[in-house]
Amino acid sequence: MTYQEFEETITSLYTYGTLDFGVVGYSNLGRPIYYAHYGDYVGNQIIIEGSIHAREYVSGLLVAEQARYLAETQPAIRGGIYFVPNVNPDGVKLVLDGLTDECPKLQEITIAINNGSTDFSQWKANGLGVDLNVNFDALWGGGSQNVFCVSSGNFVGYYPNSEREVRAMINFTELVRPSLTISYHTKGEVIYYGFEVLSPDRLERDRIIGEQLAAVTGYELIRTVASTGGYSDWVSQHLQVPAYTIEVGNPSLPHPIGVDALPEIFQQNKDVPLTALEATYDL
Ligand SMILES: [Zn+2]
Repeated sequence: MTYQEFEETITSLYTYGTLDFGVVGYSNLGRPIYYAHYGDYVGNQIIIEGSIHAREYVSGLLVAEQARYLAETQPAIRGGIYFVPNVNPDGVKLVLDGLTDECPKLQEITIAINNGSTDFSQWKANGLGVDLNVNFDALWGGGSQNVFCVSSGNFVGYYPNSEREVRAMINFTELVRPSLTISYHTKGEVIYYGFEVLSPDRLERDRIIGEQLAAVTGYELIRTVASTGGYSDWVSQHLQVPAYTIEVGNPSLPHPIGVDALPEIFQQNKDVPLTALEATYDL
């Protein structure tokens, strides 16, 4: 799959009259981060995002497919669902296309960050070597796998929220004020919940909804430990609403998990958006 084909799975959502389509913001290298919205703007809203880690781009294909499924089946719902399939366009383009249209100096730097290799299939970071899912201001820099220099993965950035993609997601999320968020990653078929939850009531609330997501996906629900700087971590800490990180894809599959795995992953996750939204009605 080329990056153009990947992006067309997202931009083609624009053609559905049952979806609103727009831009959350732009990447460091100027690529748009799109969203599609299904439902109403009154009532509870949820946000579902994917591809924040570049090599996990199948999670973005899943989020686009979830939006397409609702657009075509048109279930009646209360509230609305925002789908953000690709938070990391520069990184996903590196994984799918390698270095193509970047200027020669940036190509040299990017190859150096990748330890001299032109194989970018294992790249997780954005286009500048910052790992977006450890850059959010939520116990930033405290993770056991964090690194502190540009890298294909796990570099926390020079300061919290330093990356344009991260600030775009923060601004967007603060505008939407979601009742719940879901972040899709690969791999493992597990659902993480409960980042830095201090009150037992909140932990129990998040666990109960998490069990519903576990039931529809068949995945295992696990309490988050030692996670810092991620989107779910930031949402949980700053908005105090349930935030789940769902790792799709069989753990036996190697990174990057490709489009071949999408049909099975979609079957496991097609009911997640509505289940998650309906779970917020009682909050
Ligand atoms: Zn990930």
